[in-house]
Amino acid sequence: MYMKEILICLALIFAFSSYADARLNVVATLPWIGSITRQIGQDRVEVTTLVRANQDPHYLEPKPSMILAARKADLLIYNGLDLEIGYLPVIIESSRNPNIQSGKPGNLDCSGYVSAIGKVAATDRSMGDVHPLGNPHYHFSPRNIIRVAEGITDTLSRLDPADEAFYMANLASLRKQFDERQRQWSMVPLKGKKVVAYHALYDYLASDFGFTIIGYVEDKPGIAPSSRGVEQLIEVIKRAKPDKIITSVFYPKNEVQFISDKTGVPWVELPADVENGQDWFSFMDKVVSLLK
Ligand SMILES: [Zn+2]
Repeated sequence: MYMKEILICLALIFAFSSYADARLNVVATLPWIGSITRQIGQDRVEVTTLVRANQDPHYLEPKPSMILAARKADLLIYNGLDLEIGYLPVIIESSRNPNIQSGKPGNLDCSGYVSAIGKVAATDRSMGDVHPLGNPHYHFSPRNIIRVAEGITDTLSRLDPADEAFYMANLASLRKQFDERQRQWSMVPLKGKKVVAYHALYDYLASDFGFTIIGYVEDKPGIAPSSRGVEQLIEVIKRAKPDKIITSVFYPKNEVQFISDKTGVPWVELPADVENGQDWFSFMDKVVSLLK
């Protein structure tokens, strides 16, 4: 090979590796966080997501691969409101990565951008798995999700100021897409409808779309249904006549099937998070179309 070609090769390798290094390494706990981060960051971010869409986000077995990903991360983005309390502190600590420790610029708690509902003044074990900070399942809320997208944009811009204009432009197109979808969703007649939910996963959805959750299949948040609780719920359903019972892939189906058989109210399984290769908008589209 001629010297000149060798030099060009080397220059290309350097250009490519410095380009690869310039990408921000992001670890996102939940699929929807990873998806929004990818939409804002595009080719400037490398995103690893810890929880899968069909997994219960309340529980996760921390794996060495997750700790390794956290060790290399420039930025950790998580849901907050104690949703990941069972596994994230362990992952952060074991990573020994100073960038992502609490209070550091590489530690982003998305709930900081959210107006949480369901805050309770005091909790004790008798109330179930209640979080005093509020209901953590705000990714079902269009109203809150756009604020979170702004927060992610701010954080990416702070860590990588050279690409701020790029991130801002991507946020602008996301906002446009958001406004269009909001218009479509607002035309879906969900206002005034009544549903029963397995878990308090859909409280923000109900609040944003104007329907009412008249009862839960779980006895208390995070506490498995009891036969007495199910019997009482059946009585409530017979009186209130809700349209549907809504649940998620990771919850058992025997109780909802039993309740449905006894009352004639159908149950439907809603996606709990953004599925692989999809984005938050298609996730919400699916949720809304299954509800109507
Ligand atoms: Zn929950």
